[in-house]
Amino acid sequence: TRPRVVVIGGGAGGATVARYLAKDAKGALDVTLIEPNATYYTCFFSNLYLGGFREFESLAHGYDAIAAAGVTVVPDRAAGVDPAARTVTLAGGGVLPYDRLVISPGIDFAPGSVPGWSLEAAEIMPHAYKAGPQTQLLKAQIEAMPEGGLFCMVAPPNPYRCPPGPYERVSMVAHMLTQMNPTAKILVLDPKDKYSKQALFEEGWQKHYSGMIEWIGPDMGGNAVEVRPESMEVLIDGEAQKVDVCNVIPGQMAGAIAAAAGVTDASGWAPVDPASMQARADPNIWVLGDASAQGDMPKSAFSANSQAKVAAMAIRAELTGSKQFPAKYSNTCWSLIAPEDGVKVGASYEPTPEKIASVESFISQTGEDAALRKATYEESLGWYEGITADIFG
Ligand code: FAD
Repeated sequence: TRPRVVVIGGGAGGATVARYLAKDAKGALDVTLIEPNATYYTCFFSNLYLGGFREFESLAHGYDAIAAAGVTVVPDRAAGVDPAARTVTLAGGGVLPYDRLVISPGIDFAPGSVPGWSLEAAEIMPHAYKAGPQTQLLKAQIEAMPEGGLFCMVAPPNPYRCPPGPYERVSMVAHMLTQMNPTAKILVLDPKDKYSKQALFEEGWQKHYSGMIEWIGPDMGGNAVEVRPESMEVLIDGEAQKVDVCNVIPGQMAGAIAAAAGVTDASGWAPVDPASMQARADPNIWVLGDASAQGDMPKSAFSANSQAKVAAMAIRAELTGSKQFPAKYSNTCWSLIAPEDGVKVGASYEPTPEKIASVESFISQTGEDAALRKATYEESLGWYEGITADIFG
């Protein structure tokens, strides 16, 4: 029988590794992908949907091409992992044995991160940080805001998925409100004293949405926020504020199945070997993407996809004796601030014994001209087409 690789999670990391393992090993490996959802909605570009720049359906991707590449796609949820027996138990009751297991479940929300908020409250105060119905709910709420209403975002503490994501979202909400509700206001409550591409966002907000956005950092109470979903109130340092929409993005940790498999540490994330993405805690398990403690790399789809290719090469080398080249990783995070006003930040990375370390980085500059910003935005459109084809086939 062929060596068996089971992959948990059909997102940016998991779908990529499954497809590359099947494709590159040319049938020498038995590859199974466990994913409960028939359709994956990308978080990446979901802010552009909120801003009115993309249709919701343009975020949707399926698993047909991955199955056609020779991967067995199991439409179920992994409920448990037995690392000693090397088996995965499915929510539906099945048991899948593995020689190597890859876990790429993305994030879960840290309980108690924002007092007053819970997963049930997400129906009233959406996170929209796992794309799908939550993203649609948030958009519908913004559209239903009263004239001159208040949109509040509770921003997450580090580390979290997509460092510029909350601030791109603020930009896109501001763009939408400028069009349909120009006297509305945006309040950002942030536990961090600085954030990704801050100078670029601040410049853009001043230029495009002057007077609309107020950002409150930790020294003004941004780190002491409590919410009351039933009365649509936010308490800032104990002081109640009525809001019309409240987008709560809580603190995060590795998707729960990573802890169930015993590969996370006290931080809530899974430490990995920087040269291969193999879990430090178990040589038969790999962890990719957001769930991993990935050193200098940000939690992004670009990172997860880059890590998945390194992992596929390492797993194939172990199981089939194919050649393993030194690991190299890369990432770029684009953000749209206003129509055709795109910015980016990125780096290349190499493993050191301790961590995945940044070796060369770049970032857009304040004061760039419109033509360059437009070119950066167009680059991001090409990236989306390219990476979704690379992930899903
Ligand atoms: P995911 O892509 O979330 O995939 C995890 C999958 O695992 C899911 O399909 C889930 O259903 C499945 N799963 C979970 N638990 C189980 C289980 N027990 N059994 C089976 N399946 C399970 N990244 C970029 O590169 N560029 C961007 O512009 C960008 N913009 C973003 C904007 C927003 C608003 C957000 C929220 C994120 C953005 N990201 C962006 C980040 C990106 O979406 C994530 O970093 C990326 O999806 C991580 O990939 P992953 O494989 O770790 O997890």
